[in-house]
Amino acid sequence: MSLLTFQAPVEEEEIKEKYDLVIVGAGPAGCSAAIYARRFQLETLIVAKELGGLIVDAEIVDNYPGLPEIPGSELGNKFLEHAKKYMTNIIMEEVESIEKKESGFLVRTMDGKTVEARAIILATGEKHRKLNVPGEEEFLGRGVSYCGLCDAPLFKDRVVAVVGGGNVAFSDAQLLAKHAKKVILIHRRNWFRADPIEVKRVKENSKIEILTPYIVREIKGDMKVEKLLLEKTKEVGGEVIPTGELKEIEVDGIFVDIGLVPNSELAKKSGVAVDERGYIIVDDFMRTNVEGIFAAGDVTDKGSKFRQVVLAAAQGAIAAISVYNYLKSKE
Ligand code: NAP
Repeated sequence: MSLLTFQAPVEEEEIKEKYDLVIVGAGPAGCSAAIYARRFQLETLIVAKELGGLIVDAEIVDNYPGLPEIPGSELGNKFLEHAKKYMTNIIMEEVESIEKKESGFLVRTMDGKTVEARAIILATGEKHRKLNVPGEEEFLGRGVSYCGLCDAPLFKDRVVAVVGGGNVAFSDAQLLAKHAKKVILIHRRNWFRADPIEVKRVKENSKIEILTPYIVREIKGDMKVEKLLLEKTKEVGGEVIPTGELKEIEVDGIFVDIGLVPNSELAKKSGVAVDERGYIIVDDFMRTNVEGIFAAGDVTDKGSKFRQVVLAAAQGAIAAISVYNYLKSKE
């Protein structure tokens, strides 16, 4: 039900049997890695489930050097076009497994395609955290959304809830207020992680009501979202504790903006070490604990601390340079 159209410049590709480098992921880190790898004349394949990364959901990116104000989808496209210009092969598939072989790795996709690679860069980014409450999956696309930019216009003159206390929730609340009759921002604490300027803007917006401290217990409806069951919380020593006090509110939709979690399942399956939050542990050269497997961008422990496009792109470049040096050392 997304209204956002992301035009990725990818046609059917002729896939070789063997590559110097397979990059998993086609966001800023993956594309940047590909651009650098091709400058080193490494035969490079990007395999990605989706193109562009989460940045394509950003309304405007205004902190990428040299591009003072650019829609996230356009920036995502530019990265892909740049990678394609240097003849990177790109296929849209999910990688199922990466198996260690004597001379490198065997990469197998969910569709059963296999390619050999001498080295791998994991640039798989992050995905939206779920509330994990009844109704969330059932009403996905029927009132439940994870992307304000994609779906805000669908809620013209409606009442919508936004859940979360970070920058994304505050940005979505303001975006939704341009379309909806009323926006209810629900957060589990009485204070917010969002930047103070964003909090001020939301508080000054007459269409936005802030409802705290509450968590969502259930999303209810018949054919689409109609009500939210909320439970009041209290903060004790920094911890959020449910109080048992329940309340129902009527809404036409709910935007879940409660942060991100790493796409590191493939890494873990491949023996790559992750930290306690699930982010891939890398050193300064973007090396993981598995020789020949590198990682870059928001899926790494370093990238996720800042979550900036410029940093993901920089890590992609470092990873590609490290791959080049690694492959050279093997010759
Ligand atoms: P975030 O800053 O991690 O905030 C997530 C919010 O969701 C927190 O307020 C958290 O509550 C709440 N939350 C987490 N799990 C929850 C649950 N199960 N139930 C209810 N609430 C829950 O995430 P974000 O807003 O998605 O932002 C993601 C990252 O992108 C951040 O690092 C952000 O700064 C960055 N970002 C940067 C820019 C920019 O650079 N201009 C713009 C947008 C986003 P607690 O407060 O209780 O933990």
